[in-house]
Amino acid sequence: MTMVQRETRLPGPAQAGQRRPSHSQLNLDEAPTAPGAGRILGLQRLAGNRAVRPLLKATVHPAPGPLIIRCQPAAGDTPAWQASYIDKTFTIKDDDARVRNDDLSVRQYQKDDDIPAGKKEGDSVVIPKDTAVRVTETKLDGKTLYVRAADYGWTAAANLEGGFINETLGRSQAQFDSTDPRHKTVGDPKANLRSYKGKTYPETKPRQVIPKGTAVLVADTSTDGKYVRVTALDGKTLGWTAASNLGPGSDAGQPEAKTVTDKSARLRMETALYAVENKKIPQGSYVIVKEESQDTNPPGQYVKVASVKKDAGKYVEDQLLGWTAAANLVDNWTADIKGAHAMWEGGKFSGQADLIDIVGEEGRVFQVTAGQYDPFVRLREAAAADGHDLQIASGFRTYAKQRELYTGWQEGKPGYNKAAPAGYSDHQHGQAVDLNTGGFDTPVYNWLKEHAPALGFIRTVSGEDWHWEYRPEKAAELDAAGKFKLPGVSP
Ligand SMILES: [Zn+2]
Repeated sequence: MTMVQRETRLPGPAQAGQRRPSHSQLNLDEAPTAPGAGRILGLQRLAGNRAVRPLLKATVHPAPGPLIIRCQPAAGDTPAWQASYIDKTFTIKDDDARVRNDDLSVRQYQKDDDIPAGKKEGDSVVIPKDTAVRVTETKLDGKTLYVRAADYGWTAAANLEGGFINETLGRSQAQFDSTDPRHKTVGDPKANLRSYKGKTYPETKPRQVIPKGTAVLVADTSTDGKYVRVTALDGKTLGWTAASNLGPGSDAGQPEAKTVTDKSARLRMETALYAVENKKIPQGSYVIVKEESQDTNPPGQYVKVASVKKDAGKYVEDQLLGWTAAANLVDNWTADIKGAHAMWEGGKFSGQADLIDIVGEEGRVFQVTAGQYDPFVRLREAAAADGHDLQIASGFRTYAKQRELYTGWQEGKPGYNKAAPAGYSDHQHGQAVDLNTGGFDTPVYNWLKEHAPALGFIRTVSGEDWHWEYRPEKAAELDAAGKFKLPGVSP
């Protein structure tokens, strides 16, 4: 019997003994600055999208490189999410927290300004140290994050106490062409078409026999008549066996009964055969599920699908393709399977995620999937309660980002470490997060060893003290055994 195609997982992105990338190398984790990113922000400003209210809608700009997510008011929108800095106050900790204009140039006192004592025209405007400010908006310029301090203007986020680390800046929503439950996208690059070949009757494993001489009743017969489903005389199911194993019955009271005449009358199972055809459904195709297999265990293991075409700008059903494994398909019709929101796992497209921008280590902006954000917050808060400041050093990576990391390593570019090919990193589907462990046997690392498994996080890659994955089921299992990493992970 042909089984569902299993994925092959490539080795993790690093080898034992490999060290955390240096500071400059770490910048590679962050997508390079998009050409024109500043210009996009400038245009937004001109468009008057300055005001930030508690009702927010994250907007993604389709620039190459990093997502630049801004919180914008969306009139009439449900307040589903808001950036973490809204309604908070922050303290200026820098002695020289310069105020910047909207184009991020340093603001200087002008002739007509109310110039404070000790300052003169042309001096930089600064927000005095220890001033409490409210932040109304943020923007990323290259790798530097700026915040708009109410009543002052823009200033570097690094000038605030805590550097704005762990604040969330925006959320961008995955987009779907359809969320109808019958509408799916092919995720597996090896999604074979299958044709239904009817029932097969393989022997049970381990092999079982119905003892010779057993009186049985025939309850069902295979289409070709070769196999029969038999029960005991009291109706208790025995299973399928070859019809040729049975002879005439001897019980006059049960004229229908037969007797097992073969001394090795093997028990068989009835299963359905969906044979692989030499034809694939291209990855990323939209399909409509027309039928689910009822004769497989579990039911629905295979689905009959129809293709989809665009007609007058609308997707409509095209033609019936045939059967394929349900595991090849991803919920919803989602375009751009290598786009900014696309998740990948084991070389397969695995769905679209909502993404949250979060400030991580060194004030750099990372993304996490909406699904991994809450688990991270629980971990961070537990760590904070014990006096540890947990920060993200790499979160969700786009397909493009992982491809860049992989080709950089393949081509031996300076600063590029061993990386998994695009589609194979556990940073691509909301599972992995790199943390500011700072090495093995540091206070943060030792805290994680002790507490992370109970919160769903475990270590999975040898040599990477920073790489933790949210795998709650595995973590619970390891936690119960007093462990914090997968078997074989060293040190
Ligand atoms: Zn990692």
